[in-house]
Amino acid sequence: MIEPYFHFELIHSSSKSRARVGRITTPHGVIDTPNFVGVGTNGTLKALDNASVEQMGLQLMFCNTYHLMLQPGTGIVRQAGGLHRYINRSLPIITDSGGFQVFSLAYGSVADELKSKGTKKQDGHVLKITEEGVLFRSYRDGAKILLTPETSIAAQKDLGADIIIPFDELPPYHIADIDLKKSLDRTHRWEERSLNAHLANPQRQAIYAVIHGGVHQELRKASCDFLTALPFDGFAIGGSMGKTKPEMIGMLTTTMPMLPLEKPNHLLGIGDLESIDQCIPLGVDTFDSSYPTRAARHGILLTNKGPLKITQSSHARAFVPPEEGCRCSTCRQFSLAYLHHLFKAREMTCMTLATVHNLHFMVDLMRRYREKILRDEI
Ligand SMILES: [Zn+2]
Repeated sequence: MIEPYFHFELIHSSSKSRARVGRITTPHGVIDTPNFVGVGTNGTLKALDNASVEQMGLQLMFCNTYHLMLQPGTGIVRQAGGLHRYINRSLPIITDSGGFQVFSLAYGSVADELKSKGTKKQDGHVLKITEEGVLFRSYRDGAKILLTPETSIAAQKDLGADIIIPFDELPPYHIADIDLKKSLDRTHRWEERSLNAHLANPQRQAIYAVIHGGVHQELRKASCDFLTALPFDGFAIGGSMGKTKPEMIGMLTTTMPMLPLEKPNHLLGIGDLESIDQCIPLGVDTFDSSYPTRAARHGILLTNKGPLKITQSSHARAFVPPEEGCRCSTCRQFSLAYLHHLFKAREMTCMTLATVHNLHFMVDLMRRYREKILRDEI
């Protein structure tokens, strides 16, 4: 049954591919899909305040429960009136369960893990993984914290995002099939417990399941079968996406058709331009990634002609907007030469100016994708 405070409307399905244009309605406004979701780990997109982000039209922002649990603590956010009020954002927010970060600490980042072939990092953050949940040590003060489906949902109730995510296990890419199957079964039990904890107190929030199964086709199907039978409001694709882009696209090509068309979907942690371009025709609705904001801080501007490296010496005398025709406040006010100088002088302002441009680029890019789908060009 569709809850009145959250629903997904399918506006147009392309005649050329599985690409689709839709609209998600939440208590804090609409999200037009496909769309890009900015990552504000600690309640802010790095280098940008939330009022500016909102003005730029970023319709959905991703915040990380794990980080907010450790600092400032979700109790403080609840006392402040919830995440929207605490961080001054009136538009939709999505939070994750914390599972990804806890397991990333055990295995290193996804990239590290691929290099290390699954050997656990010896930093001792994760103390114990049981059926109940994960016991880990806070990197901030050394306190022992037990993260379970129930405590993750309770933390996400404190935060009060529009969309929340059940607690799951992130198995490493390098894992035997039998262990991956065991991990998947436990993730399904954890997701069902998360759903039950959520349904006991929905609090005008929606909950997306996370489809797992790595690059194992049968397990992805088993995950879709199990999770789509439960009353989740939408579906995120998580877990290992493979070592290479073709492997990820292959996995999504078989997995996406197994998701219900009438519910929204989200691709977790993927949002580079090439992936977005290849995944939209597969029917992906939303993408979150820190790539555009991280690139900005490293002096890379995303432009319609490709990435532009601000510190390149030829830009020292480029007294023109960073991108001709761009309507962002950076391009309307400052020259590429000035940005080049600020980066060379290591002034913090340059990070903000570059982030503004890249975020504007993403918002505009996704609008253009939606228009192309409406014209059946994708
Ligand atoms: Zn610009």
